Amino acid sequence: MWLADHPRPSARQLAEAGYVAPHWPAPWGLSADAVSQLVIDEELRSADLHRPFNPIGIGWAGPTLIYAGSEAQQHRYLPPLLSGEEVWCQLFSEPGAGSDLAGLSTRARRDGDEWVVDGQKVWTSFAHLAQFGILLARTDPDAPKHRGVSYFICPLDAPGVTIRPIVDMTGDHSFNEVFLDEVRLPASALVGEEHRGWTLAKVTLGNERVSLSGEGALWGQGPTAEALVDTVRRAGGVRDPRLRQRLARVWSEGEILRLIRLRTLSAVLAGRAPGAEASVRKALADAHGQHVMELALDLAGARGLLAEAGPVIDDVGGWPASTWSKGYLFARALTIGGGTSEVQRNIIAERVLGLPHDVTVEAPRPATAGRAT
Ligand SMILES: Cc1cc2nc3c(=O)[nH]c(=O)nc-3n(C[C@H](O)[C@H](O)[C@H](O)COP(=O)(O)OP(=O)(O)OC[C@H]3O[C@@H](n4cnc5c(N)ncnc54)[C@H](O)[C@@H]3O)c2cc1C
Repeated sequence: MWLADHPRPSARQLAEAGYVAPHWPAPWGLSADAVSQLVIDEELRSADLHRPFNPIGIGWAGPTLIYAGSEAQQHRYLPPLLSGEEVWCQLFSEPGAGSDLAGLSTRARRDGDEWVVDGQKVWTSFAHLAQFGILLARTDPDAPKHRGVSYFICPLDAPGVTIRPIVDMTGDHSFNEVFLDEVRLPASALVGEEHRGWTLAKVTLGNERVSLSGEGALWGQGPTAEALVDTVRRAGGVRDPRLRQRLARVWSEGEILRLIRLRTLSAVLAGRAPGAEASVRKALADAHGQHVMELALDLAGARGLLAEAGPVIDDVGGWPASTWSKGYLFARALTIGGGTSEVQRNIIAERVLGLPHDVTVEAPRPATAGRAT
């Protein structure tokens, strides 16, 4: 109905109508339940409409602002975040703090009405495109490491912020090093309470895990195992018994993941926190993404080694050939970003299986430690 009146809506119109994140509460979303969310997704897909580009903003910064941001912060930041007019990045990882994120050493000290931030972040996706970042910094160096961290909103154009590109092995520039040198933030940049940022970091990371769990093999983007199987079918099948075995295996993995995804999604849409189940899915899905891409390359044979060649035929299931060759290279990142597979399995071991904590250098450590918590 709305689409009939707005056949080619702008990103802002989509955002204002609540269709960018329909499950968010009003006025930002429509408090949509699982079924309504799926219906809206389907309607947008059939009208060939895409949500604005702002994966970190919409996926996990926005939900954290809804959870803990002040009313003023929500009104200032959420509308342009939803419309993609302001892109967000995540200033969490540091050279010495990835899996053990709570060990971060970027400092924020209070100076009158301002915070002064010093430190270095790394692997910051889209920092070169972003206007704002969610930032974790240590505000109480004497407190145990999970207690002295605060959560901030950092404008990327603030004096003292330097962004240096990192080119990954696909040849793309999507993440960066970010240096913070005496960066002054207003007192109002603090989200939630001082020193209580770790609780918010967990909210962010929980939403990140769910956001990375769409259907495609590359963190929810790109082709699925089903698309690969369709391609092979269209090309007349494959005789090699080992390739057939692998095809059946990746298809089965994809199907299991699809079902886990629906379960996780309906839990989140029903307002339940994404729990350890999301770790099960992430650990399986990241390896699955690598299996799909490796198989695609093997199906392509020697031709698959060419940067622009795809598996079997050039235009695979609507995906350009370069999606497969780049996807193969990018797939190495799947088991690292958003919390490594080892860390996901630690969480499953501790929280689902009730096994003792992994070996730690410091003792004792709470069960919630680790990046992907
Ligand atoms: C494509 C991509 C995009 C990213 N984007 C962002 C971003 O936008 N913002 C951001 O903040 N970060 C980002 N990251 C960083 C990412 O979150 C970290 O790389 C990740 O958390 C791992 O940290 P690390 O690289 O420091 O590895 P480390 O933590 O140093 O781990 C090294 C190895 O040790 C293993 N290991 C570590 N601890 C344990 C343990 N307790 N038990 C068993 N094994 C363990 C790990 O699994 C890994 O194999 C991105 C990463 C990638 C790949």
